[in-house]
Amino acid sequence: MQPSTSAHNFFRQLPTPRHLLFLALALSALFLLGFPGDGPLLTAEPGGLAVQIAPPGTALVPQSAPVATESAAERIKRILAEQRANGSGQAETDGSDAYAVALPTVQTTAVTETVAVDIPAPSAPPPARMLVWDGQPRTARVPVLMYHYLSVPPADANAYRIDLSVSPDLFARQLDRMQAEGYTTISLYDLLAHLWEGAPLPEKPVVLTFDDGYRDNYTNAFPLLRQRGMIATIFVVTDFMDEERPDYLTWEMAREMLAAGISIESHGRNHISLKNRDRDYLVWQALGSLETIEFELGVRPRFVSYPAGEFDAEIIAIFQSANYWAGFTTIQGATHSTGDPLRLHRVRVRNTTEPDELSRLLALDW
Ligand SMILES: [Zn+2]
Repeated sequence: MQPSTSAHNFFRQLPTPRHLLFLALALSALFLLGFPGDGPLLTAEPGGLAVQIAPPGTALVPQSAPVATESAAERIKRILAEQRANGSGQAETDGSDAYAVALPTVQTTAVTETVAVDIPAPSAPPPARMLVWDGQPRTARVPVLMYHYLSVPPADANAYRIDLSVSPDLFARQLDRMQAEGYTTISLYDLLAHLWEGAPLPEKPVVLTFDDGYRDNYTNAFPLLRQRGMIATIFVVTDFMDEERPDYLTWEMAREMLAAGISIESHGRNHISLKNRDRDYLVWQALGSLETIEFELGVRPRFVSYPAGEFDAEIIAIFQSANYWAGFTTIQGATHSTGDPLRLHRVRVRNTTEPDELSRLLALDW
């Protein structure tokens, strides 16, 4: 199934002045209307948000019912279409740009409708959860492992590709070692629930992350994880999936893994470094990847892994304003604190990381 709406196709194209105008209008509308089910970042809202705490040792993955809530883009488009039908709103004179309509006339009464999307229901979906920092400073040492390819590199692979590849055989031995040493895989939502709300973690928690969303994550890593009841997070490049590139995951694979507890989060739209870009471009990357994932999976991503590991203050500000909860760098380390969630560290797993070495990295206090 390949869902297709004009709003979705609109976001698949390269940024043009029309996109940038629309994104600006969409952001204005978000501030005017608020995001359904969304709340302020790092702000406690008395009685406003229901929070579900994960039972100890339980990995919660936020998932929606098989009805996707209307995205901001879809909502604005629909409201504007309704206004045109009613003769209200001020349509653009050339009639070609359906989005260039005065926003102050938007009615706030119609924003709670949902659009049915044919997404298979997860086998046992836990309810969506909202996380809000309770204001208590906390620090946690939880290694977040960083993988890329999960396959034997081809014969002509360069050193870079080889270093980024872990063979299925090595991965299986790493997983077995982690289990033997008492480690439990948790989700990034579990980590944030611990940091922000003090939710308990298992005794030896570990997070597995995969950057780029290669297809071998599905064909090789997923079965090995599932056999052991382990979970992971995959940071996907949404344009590569939309383009159906053969080396990358399909949305159908992502849906299947999501239903089995694998989180699908953002690695940007096209893996171009976000450094030294203007705000419009960053918004296009942050919101474009977010809306595509939400549209395809019915789940809003809350975590980003910065493409090429590059980030700066402007990038962090944009992702934070788009309500991403945390951002991952390639800086090495395993200690996280409430103070800097958009600059979290990870532990790189290499082609040469044998179980003994992994065991050492996992125990390291850094
Ligand atoms: Zn990457």
